[in-house]
Amino acid sequence: MTRPMPVAFVGHGSPMNALEDNAYTRAWAAFAATVPPPRAIVAISAHWDVPGGGVTGNAHPPTIHDFGGFPRALFELTYPAPGNPALARTIAERLALDPERVTSGWGLDHGTWSVLVHLYPAANVPVVQVAVDTARGAAYHWDLGGRLGALRDEGVLIIGSGNIVHNLAALCFGATEPQPWNTRFDADIAAAVEHGDREALISYERHPDAALAAPDAEHFVPVIAIAALRRPGDAYRTIVDGSDLGSISMRSFALG
Ligand code: ZN
Repeated sequence: MTRPMPVAFVGHGSPMNALEDNAYTRAWAAFAATVPPPRAIVAISAHWDVPGGGVTGNAHPPTIHDFGGFPRALFELTYPAPGNPALARTIAERLALDPERVTSGWGLDHGTWSVLVHLYPAANVPVVQVAVDTARGAAYHWDLGGRLGALRDEGVLIIGSGNIVHNLAALCFGATEPQPWNTRFDADIAAAVEHGDREALISYERHPDAALAAPDAEHFVPVIAIAALRRPGDAYRTIVDGSDLGSISMRSFALG
C-alpha cells in the first residue's frame, strides 16, 4: 500500500501571480517538491462555476485567459498540460454527474494554471479540471470533495483553487495590512479546516464577517471540497499565509 496523496487548497489571488516570483509562488513550488510525482492532477477551480457541474474531458485542454485588463504577457502564457479523458469520465461517475457534463467546451482557466505553472512548470502531468456549482450551496461541495477521496489512493493530486477571503469590491491598492474582517475570517476558517469542523465550513455564510470576507461563494467553496478530503491522521500544513490588497487572503494549506 502506498501512502495516499496529500490534498491542497491554494489561494491563487491575482492572475499576475502566474508571472511573478514571490513568497506565495515560491511556497507553492516548495509544496509540490514534497509531493510524490502525481499520475494526474484534479483541480477544482473557482473560475468555473457551472449549474449542474462540469469536468474537462479534453485530451489537450486549452489555456483559458478568463480575465481582462492584464498585461499582454499574461495572455500569451499557456499551460499545455495534457488532459485525461478517462479520468474525467471516472470523476463524472463518482460525482454522479450527467455524462454530458464531461466537456471539451472549457479548458484550464487561471484558477488552475496560474497555480500549476509554479507547482508543475513542465506541464507534463495530465490535468482534469472540475467545476464548482455554487447554485447547489456550500454543503454540496463537502459532498463533492468526499466523492473524490479514493483518487488519493490512485496517485492523483487533488487541488482546490480559490481564496478563503475574496472581496474585489473592497480591494485597497497600497494596503499593507489585511482588513480586520479578513484576518478574523481567515483565521476562523483555517481553524475549522485544521479541526475538521464540517459544520463551521458548510455554514460559513453565518460567520459574522462572511458578508465582507466571502461574498464570492465560488472562491470559497473549493476550501470546503478540499477540507472534506481529510482523513484521520492527515496533518494540516500551512503552505503559505498572508493577505493581498487588504481584502484577499492568500492562505494555502495541505492535508496529508
Ligand atoms: Zn480568482
